[in-house]
Amino acid sequence: MAHPDDAEISTGGTILALKAAGLKVGVIDLTNGEPTPFGTPEIRARETAKATQILGIDFRINLGLPNRSLTNSLEARAILAGWIRQLKPKLIITHCPEDSHPDHVSASALVEGARFWAKLSKTDLPGTPHHPALVLFAPSIHLRQVAKPEVVINITPHMETKMAACSAYHSQLVQGREMGGPIEDIEIQARYWGWAIQKRFGEPFYSREVLGLNHPGVLTQLDDPPSS
Ligand SMILES: [Zn+2]
Repeated sequence: MAHPDDAEISTGGTILALKAAGLKVGVIDLTNGEPTPFGTPEIRARETAKATQILGIDFRINLGLPNRSLTNSLEARAILAGWIRQLKPKLIITHCPEDSHPDHVSASALVEGARFWAKLSKTDLPGTPHHPALVLFAPSIHLRQVAKPEVVINITPHMETKMAACSAYHSQLVQGREMGGPIEDIEIQARYWGWAIQKRFGEPFYSREVLGLNHPGVLTQLDDPPSS
């Protein structure tokens, strides 16, 4: 994701659900997210460490790319492709290609380009060729658009922890915000997408690719999500 806090806002519940299912989950933040009105690099690093601890993820890396002027450059693509070749993720979640924040739009294109480069042979990129099977796009809270997602993950058992992780970003989501700020927006969106799948809370994801199921039996378990 482009900025520390984007992963928590858009995918915090899904990260927790994946961890509860026994999977390894990591986050790569592309920039440090600064400057912002109430943040400093030090404050952001502390907030990120706290949120990371709450999520209980396996690793978190910051690539230190330029905030506010993030681009889908060849240099950035090579750096990210190198990490993909070394970490070998099966699933990547990044921003939607359509977003009102230019850094998010750049991040989305950068991730898709790096995913492709990661499988190249005859290259001096670190690691070995790897092609993640699926890239999912997660909407942020900036673009007020409601498009039909390909899938919504039931995050009901993890909603409280997701909100704790989001609230760890005090300088970004709490400080200087009045009622109806981003924390409330995150809750309302999760409740809406939960309603859409007959659950309490959900997170929506989009894909350019058709989602295939190896185990169609899961379609009979939609009313019986694994408990955390
Ligand atoms: Zn962001």
